[in-house]
Amino acid sequence: MAPDDDSFRLPLYCPLIVNGEEGKAASGRQFKRENPADVRQVATIAEQGTLEDARAAIDAARAAFDGNVDNWIYNYKLREQALFRTARLVRDNADRLARVVSLEVGMPMRQAVPHIAAAADIFDFYGGLAGKLYGESFTLPSGSTINLVKEPVGVVGMITPWNFPLTQTARKVAPAIAAGCTIVIKPASYTPAATYELVKLMHQTGLPKGVLNLVPGPGNIVGSEIITNKKVDKISFTGETSTGKMIGAQAGMEVKRVSLELGGKAPYVIFDDADVEAAARAAIFGMFRNAGQACGATTRLLIQEGIHDRFLGRVVELTRKIEVGHPSKPSTDMGPLISSSQERVVQDYIKIGLDAGFDLVTGGHKLSGDEYDHGYYVEPTIFDRVDNASKLGQEEIFGPVVAVTTFRDEDEAVELANAVDFGLVAGVWSADYPRAMRVARRIRAGTVWIWDNYAQPVEGIWGGYKQSGMGRELGYHGLNDFLEVKQIFTDGTGLAMKPPYKQVIKE
Ligand code: NDP
Repeated sequence: MAPDDDSFRLPLYCPLIVNGEEGKAASGRQFKRENPADVRQVATIAEQGTLEDARAAIDAARAAFDGNVDNWIYNYKLREQALFRTARLVRDNADRLARVVSLEVGMPMRQAVPHIAAAADIFDFYGGLAGKLYGESFTLPSGSTINLVKEPVGVVGMITPWNFPLTQTARKVAPAIAAGCTIVIKPASYTPAATYELVKLMHQTGLPKGVLNLVPGPGNIVGSEIITNKKVDKISFTGETSTGKMIGAQAGMEVKRVSLELGGKAPYVIFDDADVEAAARAAIFGMFRNAGQACGATTRLLIQEGIHDRFLGRVVELTRKIEVGHPSKPSTDMGPLISSSQERVVQDYIKIGLDAGFDLVTGGHKLSGDEYDHGYYVEPTIFDRVDNASKLGQEEIFGPVVAVTTFRDEDEAVELANAVDFGLVAGVWSADYPRAMRVARRIRAGTVWIWDNYAQPVEGIWGGYKQSGMGRELGYHGLNDFLEVKQIFTDGTGLAMKPPYKQVIKE
């Protein structure tokens, strides 16, 4: 179905949601999001939130939290129900949500559909945890007790990226709700409608007013206010490392809790005893899913010398079969890039690779003609014989450009894998399991896959070492990120004069 049929009218719209009410920006201004697959079309019109709007949303979230609206903090059943109902609503509306994501991101429908299912699973998982926030209790020899209780961290400001807008939002919102927090979200300006559609569904579950607020608008205005406003207790940010560094520094000035999910430069280590077919297919998925615009994308293929030709040959063969095209076409394997600036960045890196004299083994061009002339389409591109220390080996490109480097032995593989500023994910392929395990332990990354290249189960974790971030999303760890632990000490002695008092009181 084309995205402009009757049941799916364009442009989509993204209002503000403050204190349960949809509304317009205080400035009266709006901004447009073009369709990256066909820039002649306006995909979305969104309200352009202001400082005033951000403050109103923060005030609403603060009041809802401090007033414990509808007993939000203690009535886990209310929160559990909101999460389970959201999961159901997301599944019931999967087709529409997938089309919204596909339209704004340029993500092929074949990838957008499972993306929606993954978001629903996240809501279900945290629905299951909302009623399991048990604390701990301990009795001291004196009879006094220590109770450690878990409490929501408070008002959470969430700033999200555009590349997987539903799962990125779900990974933050679902555990925050399970914990009993209240929320202000600033969505990426490329994907306001995708975020709004999810938040709108969440409001249909009967959320109390003020619990979940949405303010689209510029990062340096709306985002900045969320970060610096003293009424916000915690920032949960996903985006570029450079933005994350600045946000971490600003949040630090207020000793605000902060979690950062940032960029990556994932190595994929292939030893010469690897299953070539399985490893090559996994590599293709990791390299070109969502046109390489993924923090966990496979960006560096580190191949042992003995298997280089065979493995790379198969990877190139599969790469050349990738159909680049309009995201709504069922046959499309790879869609456009998100924007003209991202297209420029990708082309600049291709030029850097050529100027450095690396071997361009496939791709390397902007696509043109027919549908390509109206969107940001670039070929899947692989450079061989790349110096890992070069820009191509070091910097996050966020596009379909992959660097291949060879290694001699296990030590060199680990050294190359770790020789970047990032540490989000990595993959290891070897038939020798003890070796694969050894290497997995030695690579400094938040996730290392063995014989896989993209599994992100909600029961696991997601997060980075080094400059890929701080904190963990998903699983129990993702919930803990939205909780404080409080100690409540209760005297069990009943003594008016306890032995330590003698240090200050003589009689
Ligand atoms: P950006 O850092 O450009 O933007 C992320 C969010 O931050 C957007 O909502 C943006 O708003 C906002 N923002 C920008 N500037 C500021 C500011 N000064 N103050 C407050 N907020 C601001 O990242 P992208 O959206 O381009 O996302 C791509 C990046 O995200 C990649 O580096 C990728 O690796 C990383 N990422 C990491 C993931 C992880 O789990 N580790 C997962 C997914 C992506 P606006 O859109 O209005 O500019």
